[in-house]
Amino acid sequence: MTATRLEGTKLAQEILAELRGELAALAARGVRPGLGALLVGDDAASAVYVRSKTRRCEELGLHHETRRLAASATTEEVLAAVEDLNRRPEIHGILVQLPLPAQVDAQRVLDAVRPEKDVDGFHPVNVGRLLQKRARFVPCTPAGVMQLLARSGVELSGRRAVVLGRSDIVGKPMALLLMHADATVTVCHSRTRDLAAVTREADVLVAAIGRPGMVRAEHVKPGAVVVDVGINRVSDPELARELLPPERLSEFEKRGYALVGDVHAPQVAAVASALTPVPGGVGPLTIAMLMANTVQAAADAS
Ligand code: NDP
Repeated sequence: MTATRLEGTKLAQEILAELRGELAALAARGVRPGLGALLVGDDAASAVYVRSKTRRCEELGLHHETRRLAASATTEEVLAAVEDLNRRPEIHGILVQLPLPAQVDAQRVLDAVRPEKDVDGFHPVNVGRLLQKRARFVPCTPAGVMQLLARSGVELSGRRAVVLGRSDIVGKPMALLLMHADATVTVCHSRTRDLAAVTREADVLVAAIGRPGMVRAEHVKPGAVVVDVGINRVSDPELARELLPPERLSEFEKRGYALVGDVHAPQVAAVASALTPVPGGVGPLTIAMLMANTVQAAADAS
């Protein structure tokens, strides 16, 4: 079997096209959604993520601004920047790019974002609402995965779903959303015993662990749908040769690194019925959902 590629880039374009309609309706009422991003420190990957999010804002005509703070910023300084964005009426959504430097109390910062502007869905009020199946803002990555599954016609009701990873931003909300879609859900983590036996039960397997190529053929039931959330930078040439298709090896040689998922794509593509690529799978949908949440925040506020 060769798995169908679930093209996130194309589905994200569909979602953005639908948003343009909503934006036109808001513009007619004089409303222009605005996203305020907070970037603390000089983590290269974080800077790239914030740039791609603000570029998408530009393409859609959303107002956006990025507040940059030094890597040495204190919790109080970051809280003051959040408070400023909380107060500004032209900012409807606030994005605190994670990870924050170690000296900053990330929980206090996320708790300080006003729930109505919490377009990442990390505030405890929004987490609680999601738990109770009356979500306002759903965290963007798991929301993007649900869009991907729905728009690809993947049936969830009554099926076995396994989520690999239990983080607050991906694994836990992912499991809730799948449960709310009537799947029977199992969550695995680093203490799970006989992981492959559990993941092989899955009709739908979502991998979000941050381990390049860890999900191999033996973890996957033949015919399963596999969603690869992982984004990992690989610079070891041997691992790159194992994980990358031949057409991406030149990219690796040029840059000295390449981005790969948590799934061993060459192995799993031979077993699964469908697989998301990395890049071009879940990533673009994550950004599309951030845009959707920002538009919704603006609509709710106006
Ligand atoms: P975290 O590091 O917060 O969580 C990783 C989870 O995986 C933990 O629950 C951990 O278990 C589990 N885990 C780690 N190693 C193993 C293992 N060997 N076996 C079983 N479980 C394991 O990561 P995130 O959830 O933030 O991100 C996961 C991946 O998704 C990363 O590659 C990240 O870059 C990517 N990502 C991609 C996004 C996108 O837009 N596509 C957005 C956000 C993240 P335990 O809890 O026991 O430690």
